[in-house]
This record gives sequence, C-alpha cells and structure tokens, in this order.
Amino acid sequence: MQDVPTLFSEDYQSARKSFCDAALSKGWSLQSHQRDGGRDGELFTDIARIGAEHPRKLFVLSSALHGVEGFLGSAIQRQLLETLDIKQIENSQSAILIVHALNPFGFARIRRFDEKNVDVNRNFLLPGEDYSGSHPFYRQLDSLLNPKKWSKWELPPHVQALIKILPYGVQNLQQAIAQGQYDYPLGLFFGGNEPSSTMQMIQETLLPEFQQAQEVLHLDVHTGLGKRGDVQLLYDYQLQQSEENQLQKLFGKQFKINNVSEHYEAVGSFYRWLRNHAPQTATFCWEFGTYGPITVLDALRSENAASHWSDRGSKSFVKAKEKLKEAFCPQSPKWRTQVLNAAQEKTETVVGQWLLK
Ligand SMILES: [Zn+2]
Repeated sequence: MQDVPTLFSEDYQSARKSFCDAALSKGWSLQSHQRDGGRDGELFTDIARIGAEHPRKLFVLSSALHGVEGFLGSAIQRQLLETLDIKQIENSQSAILIVHALNPFGFARIRRFDEKNVDVNRNFLLPGEDYSGSHPFYRQLDSLLNPKKWSKWELPPHVQALIKILPYGVQNLQQAIAQGQYDYPLGLFFGGNEPSSTMQMIQETLLPEFQQAQEVLHLDVHTGLGKRGDVQLLYDYQLQQSEENQLQKLFGKQFKINNVSEHYEAVGSFYRWLRNHAPQTATFCWEFGTYGPITVLDALRSENAASHWSDRGSKSFVKAKEKLKEAFCPQSPKWRTQVLNAAQEKTETVVGQWLLK
C-alpha cells in the first residue's frame, strides 16, 4: 500500500491532478467534465473508466457529493488506482468507473454544499415531489443554526449541553436537521429549488452508464457520520433481502449495512433517485465516522455562517474552513491509516469476490 500521507491531498486542485495523473499513467480512460461555479473554469468532475464497454457487472466508486468529504473519497479512489491490477478487469466482462468530485465546488471551497448552497444529497427529487417544505423543528432552530453575526458562530457550551438533553433527544434533533429543508436558501441542509448542476451532470453523463450494465454496485464515499473510524453502508430505499444477504456475505456478518429510512423520511437522496432510475443498482452512501454529531454540526454551522457573512481571507473565515476540514477529514495519522486500510480491504473484496466472479 502507498504511504498514507501522500494519498491525502491538501486541496482540490492537487487532489484532481494526482487523480488524473494516476488514472492516465495506469492506463485508464479519462473524461473530464467542466463544472459551474469555478473561477477561471478550474472545476471538473473527472471520470476514470476501465473494462468492458457494455459490462455485465459495473463497480462505481464516487466521491465529494458533499464537497469537503472528498478529501477521504479522493484518497480512497487514488488508492484503488494505485493498487488495482487492470489486466484482470480488461480481460473480463466487467468495468469500473471512478468518479472524482461530484461536487467540485464544495471540495475546492471547503464546503459541504454546492455553488448555490445546495446540499446535493437532498436535491434528487422524484417525479411528483416539490422543492418545498421543512421540518417544524428546523424552523424553530433557524436562528441558532444559521446565525448572521460572528459572536454567535460558536455554539456556546451551554447550548451544546442543552441540545443533548432537548426533549427531542440528540438523535431526533440530528434527523430534524439532517433530513433537509427547502425554505431557507442560506441555511444548512438546503435541498435547492431546482435540479442542481451536479444532478444534471449525473443525469446526462453517469446515469446511462448505470442503466446499461446488468448489475451495478455503487459506493459513494462520505465522512462525518457515525463513531470515529466506523465504516458503514447506508441506503434509504427498498433493498431486496437477497441483495442484502449477498452483500452481508461479501463484506462479512459484522459489517454494518443500515437502512436509514427506518429512522426518518428524507426526500432528495441520490441513492433513492438512482435506484429509481436504474433498479439493477445497489447504491450506497459509504460512511466513515470522524467526530461526534455536535462537533460536526458546530463546524458546519460556523462555516456556513462564515461563507455567507464574513470576508474571504478574514481570520474567522479561515478558522471556520479549517474547522470544517478537520471535522470531515481529521489530520490524525491514526484515523487516516485506519479508514484507508478499511477502504482498501472493501474495494479488494468488491473487485476480487464480486466484480470478477
Ligand atoms: Zn456526506
């Protein structure tokens, strides 16, 4: 395995360059799609591909739907590029797609959201659904979650403590907030009021790939949910019992595969939409835990406020960005090694035990 520190990039541009260089030098085909929101057109979603043109089985590994979460996603993708023997894929009826930076704006600007402040994973509505509405509890929390003055950007310790013992409980609080909202365009977890640029790019460029394969396994790397170092697959649609059994067998009985729709109803998820449009796809949010929910929420809250209300380059702006990056990609070498090792083991299993079988 490659040295862990070299797989983690300092910023989006160096992550992109390392990804493209590795893909090309290892013999993958590479397509680059220019994206909105960049200064001097510097933002791209890059797609590396190897294997059969009309594959029987397709493995898709994507990153940075939530921008800043792309630091780990990009590292996992490069690790796969560096370690995979492409000959065995080329000689098979299978294919692999590695999609680098679904939301390059968020990755480059250290945001979880896109160029229109949209949480892209709340933006994938199905026919008949509207970009409107929010949880009643979110409305009560708006001024706390989305402050406009610097003095309020740090969640005071007593508020943090209060949140923990609110009648709703921390888990319900997390759900009320994280399920998304469509009424506060500058607020956290805003789902947008139209299809985002990322959704459109996916629809035009990636969806046909999903639809033409007979069987698809899609892992979309995220960070910031679950216990530190924990790894789990999350989904929110009707997964067949036989599919779940197959995955549980593949990854081992201990591995966590969780249906989040058992806990709360959220619209706009990428996975539910993808499953709806390409039913032969088993698609998952591949989550890696970093810090607890209060720390993560606190970091999101100050960064969102700084992005809207503070001067770029000001002390508070820079501090908020650093805090967010740490919340979603801890500097700790122990964490970085642990999660990359776990990811390597899983991608090897997917390729060796599923894709090439
Ligand atoms: Zn995420």
